Amino acid sequence: MGYVYVGNVPGHRSENTFCPRCGALLVRRRSWIVLENRISGGKCPECGKEIYGIW
Ligand SMILES: [Zn+2]
Repeated sequence: MGYVYVGNVPGHRSENTFCPRCGALLVRRRSWIVLENRISGGKCPECGKEIYGIW
């Protein structure tokens, strides 16, 4: 205990996840907070590509 996390950077774009096939925005995040999750059934909602290694 006693660990303090101070790495929160507002607007840090690398937190977002994009589809490797079509580039559609899949998950929009700010640090550990998921603002938007468009993955449906483990697949991209735009092209249907299965998304691995996220959940
Ligand atoms: Zn896609």
